[in-house]
Amino acid sequence: MKAKFKTTCSECEAPIKAGSEISKIPSGKWVHKHCAPESEELP
Ligand SMILES: [Zn+2]
Repeated sequence: MKAKFKTTCSECEAPIKAGSEISKIPSGKWVHKHCAPESEELP
C-alpha cells in the first residue's frame, strides 16, 4: 500500500515519504515495501 503520511522505516530507519510503497510488519510498525521481511500483500 502507499503511505498516506510521513513516517520512519523500522527496518532501515530511513524516512518514508507520503506516497511511497510501504508494508506493515506484525509488530504494527511501517517499513518500506522492500524492507519488509515478507509481503503481506496478495497478488
Ligand atoms: Zn526501509
